Amino acid sequence: MANTSVSTPESVNKDSAASNEQALPPVPKQEKTQAGSNVGLKGGVFLTKKTNADSIFIPEEWNDEQRMIADMVSDFCKMEIEEPIMKRGYEFDASKELDLIEGQLRKAAELGLCGLSISEKHGGLDLDFNTGLLFSEYIAAGFSFATTIGAQTSIGSLPIVYYGTEAQKDKYLPGIATADLIASYALTEPTAGSDANSGKTSAKLNAEGTHYLINGQKMWITNGGFADLFIVFAKIDDDEKLSAFIVEKAFGGITLGKEERKLGIKGSSTVQVFFNDCPVPADNLLAKRGEGFKIALNILNTGRIKLAAGGVGGAKYATSRGIKYAIERKQFDKSIASFGAIKYKIGDAVMRTFALESAVYRTGRNIDLKYEAFKNGGMSQSEAKLKAVREFAIECALLKVNGSELACNVIDEVLQIHGGMGYSAELGIEMGWRDARITRIYEGTNEINRLLSVAELMKRAYKTKEIDLMGPTKSLPFHIAKTRVPFKSGKGLDTEERIVDNFKKAFLLISGAAGRKLKLKLVDEQEIIMCLSDILGEAYIAESLLLRVQKLQNKQMRSKEEIEVLSSVVRLYLYEALDKVRKQGHDAIAAYADGLEQSMMHRMLDWLTPRYDVNAKELRRQIANHAIAKQEYPF
Ligand SMILES: Cc1cc2nc3c(=O)[nH]c(=O)nc-3n(C[C@H](O)[C@H](O)[C@H](O)COP(=O)(O)OP(=O)(O)OC[C@H]3O[C@@H](n4cnc5c(N)ncnc54)[C@H](O)[C@@H]3O)c2cc1C
Repeated sequence: MANTSVSTPESVNKDSAASNEQALPPVPKQEKTQAGSNVGLKGGVFLTKKTNADSIFIPEEWNDEQRMIADMVSDFCKMEIEEPIMKRGYEFDASKELDLIEGQLRKAAELGLCGLSISEKHGGLDLDFNTGLLFSEYIAAGFSFATTIGAQTSIGSLPIVYYGTEAQKDKYLPGIATADLIASYALTEPTAGSDANSGKTSAKLNAEGTHYLINGQKMWITNGGFADLFIVFAKIDDDEKLSAFIVEKAFGGITLGKEERKLGIKGSSTVQVFFNDCPVPADNLLAKRGEGFKIALNILNTGRIKLAAGGVGGAKYATSRGIKYAIERKQFDKSIASFGAIKYKIGDAVMRTFALESAVYRTGRNIDLKYEAFKNGGMSQSEAKLKAVREFAIECALLKVNGSELACNVIDEVLQIHGGMGYSAELGIEMGWRDARITRIYEGTNEINRLLSVAELMKRAYKTKEIDLMGPTKSLPFHIAKTRVPFKSGKGLDTEERIVDNFKKAFLLISGAAGRKLKLKLVDEQEIIMCLSDILGEAYIAESLLLRVQKLQNKQMRSKEEIEVLSSVVRLYLYEALDKVRKQGHDAIAAYADGLEQSMMHRMLDWLTPRYDVNAKELRRQIANHAIAKQEYPF
């Protein structure tokens, strides 16, 4: 076959209808992960290996203690955040109310919420990673306070938790756990945003060798207006790479800009921070010289999946409010919840939220298991924690993108359900809409995270050779020719399993062919990478959702009625995702291939993503009716 970058077929497949449908050697069977085995504990490997449903964690398995933490955070948000904001008519302005925010942080600390990841020795709760994600989910109902406490418990303190010396931990972590010390993370600069390593902030050791003098300007620093501590990233002398420092405000040489005027999260403090010969004791260097960028990236990995959990929490919160309002609001003598157009929005929100939740906690648990495996292998606790999150960097990036877009899309539709009242400041829906928007920008913009997800996968496939993408790709065309029939939904979820498989194949097929054709130039073709990232994201989320519902079925962990509705959630999600995979796939193919190769690739993608015969309207209605009957997000 002329000039094709897909593996060359060797013999004609007699079953094929078209003349250029040809067969390849048989497809190697996908290895299945077993419950308890750690095959599934390799990041990105979901793409080439099948996972056993019973081996994944599902949120139905939260234990009593974890549920208690979730309830406590939920009560805290209602009493300490929502009520004060409501009293202010949903106006909350950090520039005038820093004391109030500080007070809220202290109250959260009294409940232990500022020390979730801090060891008990240092006054924290030392929770496992997945319970930390559960906290992020529930604190999302605290609107902008989620950002404030996120900076305290995540980006502002984890650099010390993971990289600090014992002396640094002893000195700072107890204060962070009680919120006597407010923490912040200062990476971004006016000329260094996404390109964070290009920062100009400098650090010079003084002649006595006792202090670094830090000079420079940081921007968009969350909690900056009332922070006692800044994790500052700066370059020592002419270093190419950043170093990280623990900087106390009390060291002097620090001035703050005015509170930024922002679109949303107005209840969080965001300022510029100026360092003018700020003297930082040499002992306050975090990790080794030049390791700052690594620290910054590793901390962001953690933040990304937390942000996704927050997206799930925000979406659940908004969906519940949308459902309640829709039931109460009457037009044309009927509750608007009875209208198909409104049910569409409710059904869609529930379906998307449930799907993403499945992927977030599947990943969170895998991070915990990987941590245990590393620790049992002799790694220190901090290193094991970091490496475990790093292992799932691909999933974290995909989840960040999808979690933030979920939150933004759901709150947008919930605002629409509220009509004019959604647009008014009176109910706080518009505040949620504004607040959600930042999630697509910070912790790495969604563009950067889409690029990163694919780049990281390619690195593991072709540089470190941790994932075999080539093997499964070679035998794909044969397999595709065998599977090119429309999908018909049956009684079980077998068809749906095939659809998920085909998402993975679509990714492998297109990424393999594009990679072979463009080689290193692929990194400059960002439009193609964006498409690939979307396909990869759908493959992971769809699979996580399917596995969760299969596990629920196997273990009968929900009522028969709920499992029926959840089977509809799977079908509807796949129906929507199929469209996206098909579109993004064709876009990518058209962008890199031409001539015969292009038509062949388009055809193979069509075979992988044929029509899926379901009644999407009925599925959405069924899900929406279930949610409306429960009068809130139902699962
Ligand atoms: C409210 C708020 C709070 C924040 N809190 C903190 C904090 O506490 N600490 C901190 O250090 N930072 C913080 N940030 C900064 C935040 O992380 C950055 O805004 C973010 O990383 C993007 O950087 P930037 O704003 O400079 O945008 P830019 O990097 O200039 O990006 C602009 C656009 O270009 C795109 N782009 C950039 N590079 C590429 C590329 N290579 N390929 C494709 N597209 C690209 C981006 O995706 C984006 O769409 C905060 C920001 C805000 C708004």
